[in-house]
Amino acid sequence: MQHRRELAPELLFRLTEEEALFQQELRDRFSEDPVFQDIIERAREATAFNRDLYHEAFQYFRRCGLTAYGIPEAYDGWPGTSRGAIIAAEETCRHDPSIGLSQGATTSLVATPILLFGTEEQKRTWLPKIAAGEVIGCYCQTEPDAGSDVASLKAEAIFRDGRWRINGEKIFITNGSEAHLGLVVARIGPDRYRGLAVFIVDLEHAKLAGELTILRNEKKPGLHLSPTTAMRFDDCGTDGPLGAIRELPDGTRTGEGWKVLNATLVGSRATVIAAQGRAVALGAFDVARSYADMRTQFSLRITEMPQQRARILRVEAALEMGRLLSWQAALLRDTLGREDSRPWQLEASLAKLWNGELAEWGPSEMLQLCGGVGYTDAKIFKFWQDGRIVKIYEGTSDVQCLIIAREMLLSVLSRDPATVSEELLIEAAHTFPPDPARATLPSVYFPIAHALAVEEGNRLVREEHMFRKRCGETLTERDDAIVAMTSLLARERILAARETLRHTRRTPALRTVVEGADDIVP
Ligand SMILES: Cc1cc2nc3c(=O)[nH]c(=O)nc-3n(C[C@H](O)[C@H](O)[C@H](O)COP(=O)(O)OP(=O)(O)OC[C@H]3O[C@@H](n4cnc5c(N)ncnc54)[C@H](O)[C@@H]3O)c2cc1C
Repeated sequence: MQHRRELAPELLFRLTEEEALFQQELRDRFSEDPVFQDIIERAREATAFNRDLYHEAFQYFRRCGLTAYGIPEAYDGWPGTSRGAIIAAEETCRHDPSIGLSQGATTSLVATPILLFGTEEQKRTWLPKIAAGEVIGCYCQTEPDAGSDVASLKAEAIFRDGRWRINGEKIFITNGSEAHLGLVVARIGPDRYRGLAVFIVDLEHAKLAGELTILRNEKKPGLHLSPTTAMRFDDCGTDGPLGAIRELPDGTRTGEGWKVLNATLVGSRATVIAAQGRAVALGAFDVARSYADMRTQFSLRITEMPQQRARILRVEAALEMGRLLSWQAALLRDTLGREDSRPWQLEASLAKLWNGELAEWGPSEMLQLCGGVGYTDAKIFKFWQDGRIVKIYEGTSDVQCLIIAREMLLSVLSRDPATVSEELLIEAAHTFPPDPARATLPSVYFPIAHALAVEEGNRLVREEHMFRKRCGETLTERDDAIVAMTSLLARERILAARETLRHTRRTPALRTVVEGADDIVP
């Protein structure tokens, strides 16, 4: 992979002093504080959304100061880096991912876009209240007919009597039923992208005025400390858009919604959501490791058996790749500018794709390590169940693959491929040329995108290893084994991608399906 924006190793591979301190403080607090542990214990027992416990958890975060994290001091906040946001999400979600999700939705999906795109008045009105933990936020984008295809959304905003008003339905909104403040994406003009704007809505006021109806909270198998809400806006008054709205000579309007929603979602993928994915694997790893260390069969501890040692090492190696992929995306976000996500969206997608997949197979592998206890122990099972969502929301894994394949293709077509998976990408482009008129790509590109992500993760792990050596650190056999395992994981993915590409090319019946075209040249 070509490294267009190489980060200095001492920046990428070392937490700053403040970040390291922040991580240690949260780690100690969350593992030792009986109040937090009690919340986690009760969350584990919940079988549906538990409103009282949800608010209790929010108040706990308020007391820790986490509701203020990432908000500048000028708005009574606690300034922080994107990597700090990863640390906060990870240390929380490794105990319970739903608590971290609800907290993260307010900070990364609501406070951040207000900070980046709001007027001074909008910032002064809302940010101090979010920082103080008085206001919970929600981000309202998804609709019944607009999920991955965000730009097809239909909720409409019209300007009447000096105020923007919204009509439309939103579904799957994290925090929706409990939030005081919403950012609502709505259409203001016919242009697919420029015709979108993001509006600030005082939800308390809207409810009192009868302009907002909470339709339902979804019944979910997990994430019980995070409500997922369907809501309807009826001529709902707003506190104005984030960014400017322009009227064109033909009378239609354009806004900055596409830019705002990309900066918001891509930023969240690079930080809170990537961290959540990694954290569920980490949480399951911690619990399963200690169980398997005590359990013996055939007079051997489970962790002494070669197959189980390899299983543990695979997850450890994957966790290391996930950590570095998300750190890289977070640092690029802070270095290149948070407002425009285009220069770092590739790295954000690599981090989201890998950590989202890890959220599913990491806990699954750890569950397997523990046998029947893995399936029946609430702790491990919960990580598996809760983690499954990460590869779906904030852009599914398929959507991340599309972004990765397209971005990388653009860059490798203008130079020589630098890695094996880049060569595969070129081969795919010759055999299955992408059709710009289609919203998607032939299926052979998807395993290649996975291979690109793992190769990048492998590169980062190797480079960190060399950096630590250069710094004179004593490296253990375990460190060497992790590097070797990341390389094996990358090779496996490359082999799978290569086989998919070549077998598909040679097999007309498969080509028909994966290309979705009838005119197949055998
Ligand atoms: C618990 C939870 C919390 C959520 N929180 C929020 C929130 O706070 N705010 C909010 O706005 N939304 C939220 N969402 C919505 C979430 O972001 C969407 O569910 C997600 O983006 C996918 O959209 P969809 O469900 O409509 O799936 P669809 O878009 O219908 O996708 C269905 C399948 O088709 C695939 N697919 C789609 N397009 C392509 C393509 N071009 N090429 C190949 N495959 C494709 C997808 O990968 C998927 O496998 C939440 C969802 C859940 C379940």
